[in-house]
Amino acid sequence: MNDLYATYRIQRATLIHNSLEANRAYAAKVALTIGQSLGDDLDRLAFSSRAIGQNFQREIERGAEVRRLAEQDHSFNTVVVADARGRIVSSFPASLSINGQTLRSRAPLDERKPMISPAFSSLVGNLIVFVSQPIWSDEGEFLGLVGGTIYLHKENALNQIISMHFQQDSSFVYLVDEQRHVLFHPDSDRIGEEVDNPVVDAVLRGESGASLVSNTTGADMLAGYAAVPHSGWGVVSQQPLSVPLSTLWNLMLQVVLGIIPMSLLGLLLLWWAASRISRPLSQLAEYAGQHASEEGIRKVQAWYVEAWQIRRAMIIGALLTQERIGKLNHQALSDPLTGLGNRRVLESALREWHLLGKRYAVISMDIDHFKRVNDEFGHAVGDKVLQSFAALLSQSCREGDLACRVGGEEFILLLPQTSLPAAIEVAERIRQSLEMSSIPPVGRVTLSLGVACSEGAVIDPTKVLARADALLYQAKESGRNRVIASHEGVAGAQV
Ligand code: GH3
Ligand code: MG
Ligand code: MG
Repeated sequence: MNDLYATYRIQRATLIHNSLEANRAYAAKVALTIGQSLGDDLDRLAFSSRAIGQNFQREIERGAEVRRLAEQDHSFNTVVVADARGRIVSSFPASLSINGQTLRSRAPLDERKPMISPAFSSLVGNLIVFVSQPIWSDEGEFLGLVGGTIYLHKENALNQIISMHFQQDSSFVYLVDEQRHVLFHPDSDRIGEEVDNPVVDAVLRGESGASLVSNTTGADMLAGYAAVPHSGWGVVSQQPLSVPLSTLWNLMLQVVLGIIPMSLLGLLLLWWAASRISRPLSQLAEYAGQHASEEGIRKVQAWYVEAWQIRRAMIIGALLTQERIGKLNHQALSDPLTGLGNRRVLESALREWHLLGKRYAVISMDIDHFKRVNDEFGHAVGDKVLQSFAALLSQSCREGDLACRVGGEEFILLLPQTSLPAAIEVAERIRQSLEMSSIPPVGRVTLSLGVACSEGAVIDPTKVLARADALLYQAKESGRNRVIASHEGVAGAQV
């Protein structure tokens, strides 16, 4: 928009400059043409003055020359000859009947040289300009003058010059005399009017040029002016400033209309680019708000470096969070000493299997005479024994089995989809493994086991657990280091 305004300013200045220059050149051309016409008029009068000077007293010849001069072309509306005292002795056309009258102005008689008068009102009220040449006898005696009048309101050669040059597009030319009277104006009502403006001041000082002026109605005008040779007159060619400016406005309008679609396209492109840039950011912000997983964040298409960096930071954050949550979960669900599941894990697994109607077996275990281990070797060694047994237990597990530490030296192994005989086999293998392995510095350690089976979903898990515990108790009672198992409702049987 700034460019457009700058262009407008430059174009405006250029247009004003060019229009001023055109008006200046035009005024100069018109002034020159009028000057030439006046020069021609003076030449014609000089020719007649010589002819009349030779026969001044002969009325008929004088009258014929006056008539010839008047009819020669249309330079003058009337032609008169006056004697040295200013009395009109010949005139044309005869209809004027002014012979015998005295010239109104004595200046041409006193000056006795070629003259062009300022505009004045004639005897019969016409606004006229009087162009004259003195008449001398062959002996050099001043006899009078021959003069032609130009009726400013009527058709004549001068009038035609200006009319011919009269421009279109509301530009116009006017002519002023040295007394600031309008001699010609396209608006004939203004002929004779006195004008007062800086341009007229300048032109009457004999200057030529151009400037921006306000006219009588206050409108800005581009005016060119030039002095007319042979006279004290001046020509002003002026044009309303609004004329070239309206062209400029039309041009600017075209430019704006041309620019609008491009601007809209530009805005559209900008909007498209902005949404492409902001899309990954807003998606990432959404994921951040939802605490989305690392996989979710990875789906965001971060196509530029900054978004990619944010995405990477968020992925790392999400991974760290997941890891921390995993650790906390593990800590909440596992036994810190052995890493096996705790009672909470056990209970939730049993609840789930029960709901799903899954069949399972429970092996309840308690290390024999563990108190002695602690007493003999210290609590730390006792802990080591617990860890060693936990490792042994884990090795004995299949995929899907769940080993838990539920008390000081009490463990439970859950075996999904396992029949009682299979569970008994597992229990026996565990018992033998422990019995056969020597745990330094303690040596041989044994354990007692109770095995119970759910036999379908009908039995409450707490009952199965209680049965396994009861069987474990039986194993203790009957001498330890053994497995005792039973179905629901079936008495425990030593294995
Ligand atoms: P039994 O089971 O054969 O009847 O005899 P026991 O000596 O194992 O008897 P009891 O179950 O009464 O004793 C268990 C002992 O285990 C008591 C306690 O000091 C010890 N204990 C419990 N928790 C821990 C533990 O985390 N670390 C160690 N080192 N010892 C523990
Ligand atoms: Mg115990
Ligand atoms: Mg014990």
